[in-house]
Amino acid sequence: MIKTGVVRIVERGVDGERLIATHGRRSFIGDVDMLTGRSSLIVAIANEQVEAFQLCSSQLRKLLNSCPNVSEILLEAFQMRRKLLASRPFVGVRVVGTTKMNHPKIKVIPHSEVTCINDESRVESIETRNSPTGETDTIHCPALFIFIGAQPHTAWLPKSVLLDDKGFVLTGSAFYTDPSLRSHWSLDRTPCDLETTVPVILAGGDVRAGTTKRCGFAVGDGSLAVSCVHRLLVQS
Ligand SMILES: Cc1cc2nc3c(=O)[nH]c(=O)nc-3n(C[C@H](O)[C@H](O)[C@H](O)COP(=O)(O)OP(=O)(O)OC[C@H]3O[C@@H](n4cnc5c(N)ncnc54)[C@H](O)[C@@H]3O)c2cc1C
Repeated sequence: MIKTGVVRIVERGVDGERLIATHGRRSFIGDVDMLTGRSSLIVAIANEQVEAFQLCSSQLRKLLNSCPNVSEILLEAFQMRRKLLASRPFVGVRVVGTTKMNHPKIKVIPHSEVTCINDESRVESIETRNSPTGETDTIHCPALFIFIGAQPHTAWLPKSVLLDDKGFVLTGSAFYTDPSLRSHWSLDRTPCDLETTVPVILAGGDVRAGTTKRCGFAVGDGSLAVSCVHRLLVQS
């Protein structure tokens, strides 16, 4: 809560600072992240002498619990602030490295890699380097989520192991029940659930087409492989 002075609320991005709001005397500048404990998406800057009352999360919660009237006003303010951010060209997420994304709320920084994470007790900013030009940049952000490992490394497999258009290995009914792919199976018997187009070669887990890319599912495929092997041993 500002006692005296003016505070600017800004979003910091690769293209500089963007002003979101200006708050003066008697303004409450809190955000819903005071309750969730997450880092704030925006930054408050005082360019002059400012006196303010600071509330920590537990004090705010106490206030919300003990003063229903104030609580209603503050929760409504939190909601309106999120709506304000959503209605503006506010970039909530920046994706470094990929070129394949198209969403107004997502800024893509292609051909780049994260080279450093700057933090004190939590993420404050990251350093990026553009691979072709070598140019570096600093991006202020409250959090970093690394999304890697979504592409299968199957290019080394022989062509006889049939893949889908994204490079995942087709197994069992995925090719056997598809009339256009059935010809890739050379035997009279039906393939096992994990069997590839090459008889008795199995694939399981993330690399298999159509699976949910999660540990639990990969472990499930591992168990399924045991029953497939039993069946194949009996048949051979
Ligand atoms: C960043 C990230 C976060 C994730 N978070 C979660 C999560 O929170 N919860 C969850 O359930 N799942 C999560 N996953 C998914 C989970 O990690 C996978 O679903 C799971 O590891 C798949 O197991 P897998 O055995 O099929 O494959 P992998 O764990 O990828 O194992 C495949 C192994 O094969 C090796 N390999 C590859 N090619 C060859 C080769 N030619 N010769 C020999 N070895 C080779 C690899 O080195 C690797 O060790 C996450 C994945 C990523 C990438």
